Amino acid sequence: MALGKGAGRLRCAGLLLAALLLNASYCYATSYLMSPAPFDRAPRVLILYPYDERIAATTAAGEALRSRLFEATGAKIDVFSEFLDLSRFPEADHAARMGRYLGEKYAARRPDVIVALGKESASFVSRNRGRIAPDAKIIAAGFGNSSAEKIDLPNDVIGAFSTFDILKTAEMARSLQPNARHLYIIGGSSDFDRQWLATARSKLEEFSKSYETIYLEGLTIEEFIDRASHVPPDSIIVALTVFKDGKGRNFIPREAIRQIAATAGAPVYGPYQTYIDYGVVGGNTVTFDSLGRTVGDLVLDAIAGKPVSDIQAPQTYVADARQLRAWGLSEKDLPPGTIVMYKQRSFWEDHWLATTGMIGALLLQAGFIAALLFERNRRYDAERRSRLHLLEAVHLNQSATAGALSASIAHELNQPLSAIRNNAEAASILLRGGSPDMVLIQQILLDIQEDDKRAGDIIGRMRGLLKKRREIEWQEFDLGDVTSSAMRIIHGEAERRGIVLHSNRPPAELPVRADKVHVQQVILNLATNAMDAMSEAVAISRTLTFATGVADEKAEICVADTGDGIPEEHLSSIFEPFYTTKKAGTGLGLSIARAIVETYGGTISACNRPEGGAIFRVSLPLARHEGRKG
Ligand code: ADP
Repeated sequence: MALGKGAGRLRCAGLLLAALLLNASYCYATSYLMSPAPFDRAPRVLILYPYDERIAATTAAGEALRSRLFEATGAKIDVFSEFLDLSRFPEADHAARMGRYLGEKYAARRPDVIVALGKESASFVSRNRGRIAPDAKIIAAGFGNSSAEKIDLPNDVIGAFSTFDILKTAEMARSLQPNARHLYIIGGSSDFDRQWLATARSKLEEFSKSYETIYLEGLTIEEFIDRASHVPPDSIIVALTVFKDGKGRNFIPREAIRQIAATAGAPVYGPYQTYIDYGVVGGNTVTFDSLGRTVGDLVLDAIAGKPVSDIQAPQTYVADARQLRAWGLSEKDLPPGTIVMYKQRSFWEDHWLATTGMIGALLLQAGFIAALLFERNRRYDAERRSRLHLLEAVHLNQSATAGALSASIAHELNQPLSAIRNNAEAASILLRGGSPDMVLIQQILLDIQEDDKRAGDIIGRMRGLLKKRREIEWQEFDLGDVTSSAMRIIHGEAERRGIVLHSNRPPAELPVRADKVHVQQVILNLATNAMDAMSEAVAISRTLTFATGVADEKAEICVADTGDGIPEEHLSSIFEPFYTTKKAGTGLGLSIARAIVETYGGTISACNRPEGGAIFRVSLPLARHEGRKG
């Protein structure tokens, strides 16, 4: 063993370790594979674990070692594992029995390298190597130089030493809890535990002078738990190992520490990585992963026949972020380079991408909604404005129609008024007579009433025609009725112009939903245009026909005349505003008619009749299809 050769060799260890770490896996993989293979078979490595498989410290280091070997050799290596269980079976008999057993077991497959994890494995192998593998190289790992000296390893045993520096762990506690006044050190009752306590006593001698220091030892697990739970809050608790308690009960140390830390009255620290997640705030430790990989590199060198020497396994500070938070300790008081485990990243850190995406999507969506609302309001406004314009235009159009029809309406009105006057005069003459004929007078009065009603109807129609609307009055009505009332309005004018009116009234109603006065205005526009178109026609052939019916599931009214028709090239432009062929025309009648019809979901079109004259066709959606079909 190198230790005897002393300090010079250990000085080299730092350099060697740095070189090992720098070279990384590529170097090892290539150097192992390129060097002349010393074996004509896969090399064999036996890993000896000191305890059983539940002791995480050694199994973690062993796993890291195994993966390093497989990674570097491309799995062309045989790795065997043996759990010596020397803590639960500390008797010399057991160790001797294991020695004999392993000697026989590996008789036909002697390992080329034996890795002894922990000092118990190292002493075991140094006593039994002759039986198990007399020619194997031995690499011991997982304990400090001082322990190695104590167990007096043979000179050819290489060590990957790891010093569990309890002082560094205590210093970590001091920097986190500068106001602590009490120091408690916990250690179990196994040989290993007691050795640890002795080491801690000497290493912490100076440190403990600043505290009221109490060593909790030789206690049962229940006593440990109880004492730890009653320490003053300004205390530091340092847990070493508890492989056995005062009653001789065996424990996995981290399980014992977990029970103690669960109800402890102050933060608990420990020198093992495996204590993290078991209620310990942190400590200075060899990380078992790095130990395993360091040992792996030594094994690879040994297999490749390279010279190997002792090295120090890297050590570091580790801390549990959850415990720091639970005890109100600040991460910034940790020694520089501390590995902080179980750091709970904030929601933002974990999900910043998704959150940003979501917020972005929401903003985008909100933007879209705002734009759509804005657009909708704009559309409503535009629709409202266009409705107002339409109403204005319709009203002007109605006034124009009324103006155009005024002569014939006045003439029409004249008839009942004259009749009333004549009848009144006749009645007055009768009354002035000696014995007035009361029956006749009664009849005359009835006639007067009748004529008055006719005059009232004519005035009512005019009033309806001129009524100004502020909003569309939606109502359901029969298209045939509106056609009849339009015909009543123009019949006087038609008569004056020598035009014969025709209509076909279908048996069933043609219900539509619109503003009745507007639809009537459309029919009046078409009728007056038709009458204008026939002004040049021969008097006997002036006929204006109104035909209502259903076409393509829609209510339809056709207004046909016997005029000259519309020049084919103008059929498409007659509905444009300001298109007129009349001297006093405005060219607005048909464009207003189209605006009205389209407002109620309908269409308007024009064509010429083969026999002469034009036909205008207006179709509007039927309000009740079923009723109509029935
Ligand atoms: P205006 O009656 O003031 O001219 P309109 O928009 O009502 O305006 O009509 C536009 C033009 O369409 C008319 O000037 C006319 O040339 C033509 N037109 C409309 N109806 C007929 C019809 N029944 N026969 C022939 N031409 C017509």
